[in-house]
Amino acid sequence: MSNEDRLGEPSLFVCPECHGPLWEIEDGDMLRYRCHTGHAFTSEAMLEAQSAETDEILCSLLRAHQQRAAFTRRMADRESESARVDMAAKLQERSRECEADAEVIERILESRRGIVAENGATTKQN
Ligand SMILES: [Zn+2]
Repeated sequence: MSNEDRLGEPSLFVCPECHGPLWEIEDGDMLRYRCHTGHAFTSEAMLEAQSAETDEILCSLLRAHQQRAAFTRRMADRESESARVDMAAKLQERSRECEADAEVIERILESRRGIVAENGATTKQN
């Protein structure tokens, strides 16, 4: 019996911890997941880990857009000071687009927090 046989069936999912492939193990009426490194998850733990990973990515995406909005605004101010009106206007427009994208991401994060609260997370928002 090879190592992989003992791990179960290969799944379509990756390990939320190390992003390696996950094997699916039927354990009575429960499903369990395990990667080569040894990270192991119940179905419930997989849902939680995936949710946490999604939040982390969205927060990182939000920070990137906020940074870009602030940076293009700063560049726009510099162009304005140098009386380069066209370039300043272009940069201001780009900054507004980044802010608008950041707002969309913020709304997604807020709606996800609502879902987490509904599903009985330890802290409730409001
Ligand atoms: Zn892993």
